Amino acid sequence: MIIDLRSDTVTKPTKRMLEAMMSARVGDDVFREDPTVNELEERLAKMFGKEKALFFPSGSMANQIAIKLHTNPGEQVICDKYAHIYNYEVGGVAFHSAASCKLIDGNRGMFTAEQVIEAINPPEYYYSQSSLVEVENTTNKGGGACWDFKEFENIKKVCKANNLGFHIDGARIWNAMVAKNETTLQYGNVFDTISVCLSKGLGCPVGSVLIGDEDIMKQSLSLRKLFGGNMRQIGYLATAGLYALDNNIERLADDHKRAKEIGEVLSKLQIIKKIEPIETNIVIFELNDDVDETQFLNNLNEKNIRIIGMGSNKLRMVTHLDYTDQMHDKLMGVLKSL
Ligand SMILES: *Cc1c(COP(=O)(O)O)cnc(C)c1O
Repeated sequence: MIIDLRSDTVTKPTKRMLEAMMSARVGDDVFREDPTVNELEERLAKMFGKEKALFFPSGSMANQIAIKLHTNPGEQVICDKYAHIYNYEVGGVAFHSAASCKLIDGNRGMFTAEQVIEAINPPEYYYSQSSLVEVENTTNKGGGACWDFKEFENIKKVCKANNLGFHIDGARIWNAMVAKNETTLQYGNVFDTISVCLSKGLGCPVGSVLIGDEDIMKQSLSLRKLFGGNMRQIGYLATAGLYALDNNIERLADDHKRAKEIGEVLSKLQIIKKIEPIETNIVIFELNDDVDETQFLNNLNEKNIRIIGMGSNKLRMVTHLDYTDQMHDKLMGVLKSL
């Protein structure tokens, strides 16, 4: 038994999800003739109260195309220094959109409307024009932290007053909604574009969806083609998405509960300096200076436990659909013995 807590992306489709995929109705999506992907897109658009949704092979592509939709070359995206779009998408903001990022020094990947106001460039011709505010919920590098929804509403007002687009990277938006009891319509009401992942907590093998109204999404289909992201019989994947929306959202609360239990055990260990507050399914902790990170990881590896190092003695565990009760019991035992 291997306990893999490196990411919630390591899950494999369950038998029932696979069965649903095997019986999917499919067609050529480049002709927009795949009935199941059309159904998934319509359903997600409706869930968020938007006019349009488009399926993507990855969350990075959905985010990068959102940025392209909101910016012109030379313009600037306001985001947190922890943002996935800035740190983990290969500098795509510069590469694909010829735009730059103005980084906010936030708290665990989150910031305030006042900080957005400070980050907006003055109108003089020699500044880069600020055109988009980008946030992430939950925050990945911030340890699965959830925003206070009020702050989104405050930032929305600033965006409106300054003619800025507002995009949310919702790779783990489902975790935030379950943890904070929020609704998809609330998000649709505040954001211009929303990217959601089906392949993280929801357990699909592939898939992200970008959601927004027609006016902003007009170029999304041709941009997806330009980025090389058009696909054919993707109903097989869209079926997994539909299955996950029906079956795998509420259960995220179990992942959150287990992450908190892991955190409680870690907090009693001598070798650990600090644990980030645990709100969802991500546990980030820091080892004491005298503990060797590589040795610690190897020690767990020998016990068939895989977790990930984030540099500077920080480590990450992520709970997910394939992390069973049996694995949880074993992990708790091993952690207690450290
Ligand atoms: C995983 C993730 C993405 C998208 O990742 P892909 O691997 O490209 O699907 C985007 N944003 C955040 C915060 C993520 O954690």
